[in-house]
Amino acid sequence: MLRLNAAAGAADAMARSATTHSYNKFNLLVADPLTAVVFSWAGDTLETYDLRAGAYQVNNIPFDGTNRPSPDVSNDVWLEREAGCLTEHPLVCRHGDGYGTRCSHQLLIHEDGLEESRVWHLDGHPCEGKFELVLGEPGG
Ligand SMILES: [Zn+2]
Repeated sequence: MLRLNAAAGAADAMARSATTHSYNKFNLLVADPLTAVVFSWAGDTLETYDLRAGAYQVNNIPFDGTNRPSPDVSNDVWLEREAGCLTEHPLVCRHGDGYGTRCSHQLLIHEDGLEESRVWHLDGHPCEGKFELVLGEPGG
C-alpha cells in the first residue's frame, strides 16, 4: 500500500493481497487528499468502505462504516470523546504477551485542505498515554 501513488488504486492492491496472503483480522485506512478507504478483514471476507466527509473511528473492532458524531458536536469535543473510547478494554486497547495496541492516531482532515488538518500520535497503549499533536497547529 505504501508504494501506491493514490488511494484509488488501493482496492485492487488489497484484493490481490487478500487472495495471496494470510492475515489476522485488521482494519486498514488508506487515504490521500481526495480519497479515503477503510479495508476491514474479519478473517474471511474483505469489506471495503469509501469514506465520505465526516468523522470515523477505526480501531481493532471490525469497521462498519458508521459516521459517528452528530452535527452539533464540534470536532475537538468529538476527538476528546473518541480518545476515551480508545482506552476500552479488551476490544479496543489490547495488552498481551508480545502483542497488543502499539500506537494510536487521531486525524482531523479539514474540508478547507491539509493546511488546516491535524494529526495526533499516541505511542504505546492508549490507556497509558496521551495524544500529542504531531502535524498541524493547535486549534487549527
Ligand atoms: Zn490498555
